[in-house]
Amino acid sequence: MSSVIYLDNNATTQIDPEVLEAMMPWLRGGYGNPSSAYSLGREAAKALDQARTGVAALAGCHVDEFLFTSCGTESINTAIQSALALDPDKRHIVTSAVEHSATIKLCEYLARRGYEITWLPVDRSGQLDLARLEASIRSDTAIVSLLWANNETGVLFPVQEIAAIAQKKKCLLHIDAVQAFGKMPLALEGAGVHFMSFSGHKIYAPKGVGGLYVNRRVKFTPLLRGSQENARRGGTQNVASIVGFGKAAEIALQHLGTDSIKSLRDTLESQLESAIPGATVNGDRNNRLPNTTNISFEGVESEGALILLDEKGVSCSAGSACSSGSVHPSHVLKAMGLSNDQARASLRFSIGRFTTAEDIQKAGQIIPAITLPHLF
Ligand code: PLP
Repeated sequence: MSSVIYLDNNATTQIDPEVLEAMMPWLRGGYGNPSSAYSLGREAAKALDQARTGVAALAGCHVDEFLFTSCGTESINTAIQSALALDPDKRHIVTSAVEHSATIKLCEYLARRGYEITWLPVDRSGQLDLARLEASIRSDTAIVSLLWANNETGVLFPVQEIAAIAQKKKCLLHIDAVQAFGKMPLALEGAGVHFMSFSGHKIYAPKGVGGLYVNRRVKFTPLLRGSQENARRGGTQNVASIVGFGKAAEIALQHLGTDSIKSLRDTLESQLESAIPGATVNGDRNNRLPNTTNISFEGVESEGALILLDEKGVSCSAGSACSSGSVHPSHVLKAMGLSNDQARASLRFSIGRFTTAEDIQKAGQIIPAITLPHLF
């Protein structure tokens, strides 16, 4: 594979070599089914226990509150549908206009099935109006489901305050922490959150493994029925990937609080702001993931810029998505009040643990050469 300046770590991350090494024995000789009683199975079950300890430590929860799933999307679907199964008379869901498509698509589907969805708006900085959140929770609200960190802008919602509101209104709360996990400390214990979703491939583990925190005191209904995961998530566990997830979580915990990623992001951001007239950072700069910057470049068409950047070896993502031949501006940026043109002129750069100062220095030269307004 060619060497690229990879600035799209919110989309996915490379597998950490240490993670891959930890996984290998479980792809070779350690093929036992963790539910089997003989030693090959018991060893696999022990490996799952150890991995659960790793991910639960990073999430700040008890090991028995952490279920392994196939991805963040499955976790989100499980949490929301578990809440709906609790009380058939509660047919209202509160979420926001800037959620990940996993939540949006599920809620749109549920709306077609007769559920009522409140889509909370955000302001120009990507933040919620908490008074509006509180007012939107009703006696028939089954669950509030909100992001912790926005995947496109990195903007953080104030989870503690949201949890206090959900608690006051006696409503279940699911937090999509797929992007926050491993990038900032999360202390779930006592946080008043009932469900939280995680994903392996955002923290240098492989794709196809995820996690769901289910608060011990919450009545839970599985999405996939079967005997595994204490009958809370059926399906033989993906042992090698789960081991990788556990290892990745251990490594992430060691790196929490070191701010080299933030300083690389800040360097790139200030280089681009000073080199490119009209470059504007989107979202609340004070409450943001340390690795993410989303910038609108005046007069630039981001889909085209992505191709040119790719040719120069820079991978990042656009504030728009191309489907069926037409370019749709990002729903997140639109919800923040950007015009179609401003949203289409934006790029997201997300730094990772393997990004080097040299990558940032090179990107700081390549990006202005492509996004300077006169080129378009
Ligand atoms: N939620 C957020 C905020 C995400 O960024 C993503 C992935 O991009 C997901 C959910 C879905 O996770 P997965 O890819 O593991 O299904």
